[in-house]
Amino acid sequence: MRVLLVEDDSTLRAQLRAGLQDAGYAVDEADNGRDGHHLGAGEAFDAVILDLGLPVLDGISVLKRWREAGLTLPVLILTARDSWHEKVAGIDAGADDYLAKPFHMEELLARVRALIRRAQGLASPLLQCGALTLDTRSSRVTLNGQPVALTSHEFRLLAYLMHRPGSVVSRTELTEHLYAQDFDRDSNTIEVFVGRLRRKLPPDTIETVRGMGYRLVTPP
Ligand code: CA
Repeated sequence: MRVLLVEDDSTLRAQLRAGLQDAGYAVDEADNGRDGHHLGAGEAFDAVILDLGLPVLDGISVLKRWREAGLTLPVLILTARDSWHEKVAGIDAGADDYLAKPFHMEELLARVRALIRRAQGLASPLLQCGALTLDTRSSRVTLNGQPVALTSHEFRLLAYLMHRPGSVVSRTELTEHLYAQDFDRDSNTIEVFVGRLRRKLPPDTIETVRGMGYRLVTPP
């Protein structure tokens, strides 16, 4: 899962980036509205955290431009404390949720999880595929109740697939959603991570669909 973070306060941005990365997300960031808009319009993200008070281009304008261009990705806006009119303007501009400053990292993470889940039509934070369970709250994976040790890349890959059970996901899509822009992307690494993940999961959990990509198979 890949998240775009648009926040001009460098201290807050660093805190949010660290918290999001710890929770297993790939994070791209911008410190002004123009760069944030450009990234959101041109790159693939699973969710956006958008501050409203931004230099160069304000957050509401960024959001309006994305929505006018038909971008449907989930957006969580950060608003000033007690500013109900900002919340209203943000939601009217196309925000999916809001969080007033100051907030706890745990609440932000919970809201981001919920946005990503809902975008895939999933109701529960507990994702299941046969004996395999992924708890999006703790970023833990278990198989028949036993913990499965995964690296952050393996976890991100599995989480992306488990949010889309039964759907074919291409290597390109995986590459776009698993790595931040500055990461040295190579589609061969996806095959390497799939191979590593397969060795830790029951056989045939991740099916290769020839010429198309991969699919998470739920056992009957
Ligand atoms: Ca700001």
